[in-house]
Amino acid sequence: MKVLFVSAEVVPFSKTGGLADVAYALPKALIQEGVEVKIITSRNFHNKAVNVDEEHLMNLEVEVGWRKQYLGLSRTIYEGMEYLFIDNEYYFKREGIYGHYDDGERYSYFCRGVLEVLNAIDFEPDIIHINDWHTAMIPLLMKKHYSHVEKFQKIKTVFTIHNLRYQGIFDPKVMGELLNMDLSEFNSGAVEFYGNVNFMKSGITFSDAVTTVSETYATEIKEPYFGEQLHDLIRNQEYKLHGILNGIDFGIYNPETDPNITTHYNDKNSSKKAENKKDLQELMHLKKSKAPLIAMITRLADQKGLDLVERIIEEMLQLDVQLVVLGTGEKKYEDMLSHFSAHYENLAVYIGFDEPLAHKIYAGADMFLMPSLFEPCGLSQMIAQRYGTVPIVRETGGLRDTVQAYNKFTNEGTGFSFGSYNAHEMLFAVKRALELYEDKTNWREMVRRIMRLDTSWEKSALAYKALYESL
Ligand code: ADP
Repeated sequence: MKVLFVSAEVVPFSKTGGLADVAYALPKALIQEGVEVKIITSRNFHNKAVNVDEEHLMNLEVEVGWRKQYLGLSRTIYEGMEYLFIDNEYYFKREGIYGHYDDGERYSYFCRGVLEVLNAIDFEPDIIHINDWHTAMIPLLMKKHYSHVEKFQKIKTVFTIHNLRYQGIFDPKVMGELLNMDLSEFNSGAVEFYGNVNFMKSGITFSDAVTTVSETYATEIKEPYFGEQLHDLIRNQEYKLHGILNGIDFGIYNPETDPNITTHYNDKNSSKKAENKKDLQELMHLKKSKAPLIAMITRLADQKGLDLVERIIEEMLQLDVQLVVLGTGEKKYEDMLSHFSAHYENLAVYIGFDEPLAHKIYAGADMFLMPSLFEPCGLSQMIAQRYGTVPIVRETGGLRDTVQAYNKFTNEGTGFSFGSYNAHEMLFAVKRALELYEDKTNWREMVRRIMRLDTSWEKSALAYKALYESL
């Protein structure tokens, strides 16, 4: 089984969120199951910290409308995995991976570029596994421009939706002026979305299988509330939709070996976690208090439930707790957090994206708050569990599939949760966690229990492999 895995961001070269983690860890787990995988991504120049030797393979030209754009292809082997980089400085040498005025053009080029590379190299995959809207035009481009090429005729496509909210919606001119296609699929409605072109819609329609990153989210997106206006299409295509839960990489996220923290620990000596709490308090200029430390590490976006936090943050900070927030994103939330941190000495906020700090927080905090409005899978709650940091989540999507609510009568559970999207319900869930925190024996048991959970990639990799084989 041979797979070309396509992603716009990949750890350790670039990352804005969970997609990059998955694009690193899933191929690695697949290789362990005997699948041959090459990963292809754009050369984003994003994470300057990683220095790898790259081998330049070839130069190609990619048709973008009437223009021919340069594509430099290079390759590196990193931790035994083969990465191919699509290099074009005009499109990719920028701050930030997405959010540019010409994203429609950049990712039209990327999708076409991937297929040009495949056409040129000596590799015949059985499957092209594409991820999110940035790659979603690939199945239709294959059908339109490459169906006469023998190599492409047997290839099946798998499209994974990591987040249905971001769809890649652009002016219909993209079809002709960038993707060199006629308007038949636009006129038939297959890629049309309220007068525009929708990359996500095209990916769902033209790929052979669609997966999303938890079973609950796969069910939720058939409903209008979660379906982001594509629920009817998703219902029509239900026969090829699968929910496969993400895992986390147990090599990167391991409190026994994590190079970002000073005191290592495991489920048997989890009391050593307290040393990391002291380090974190010092680093974040918090008092060295024994009060429970609650953390959030998150994109500051509506999806992540920050409006709930805003509503009750003062009530929460008046309890005997400390709160640490690491995040970047929408300015209104950055301002809100900075404002409150100036007024409450038990709140420490770091606005920015900082991977080493994230690890220190996972290790040093007692609880991890993740009150998402919706959550396709969510990795942070699983990372928190691995570090013995008890998650407090809203019961939606992957959060529902990975956090079993604590039951004080049976003393079972792997975190705390609440159902309605309501600020005080969230605060009550926090208070339930604080209550258990006072019960030192049962708290310690909870910490150990969650550290022992197997949320690694193995099971999911086998599910993907079975899906590839079925195609
Ligand atoms: P999403 O992909 O929706 O942002 P996930 O929970 O699936 O959410 O994945 C988020 C990933 O990004 C986790 O690895 C988390 O630790 C990391 N992360 C989020 N925000 C930051 C930040 N500001 N600094 C460092 N890491 C972050």
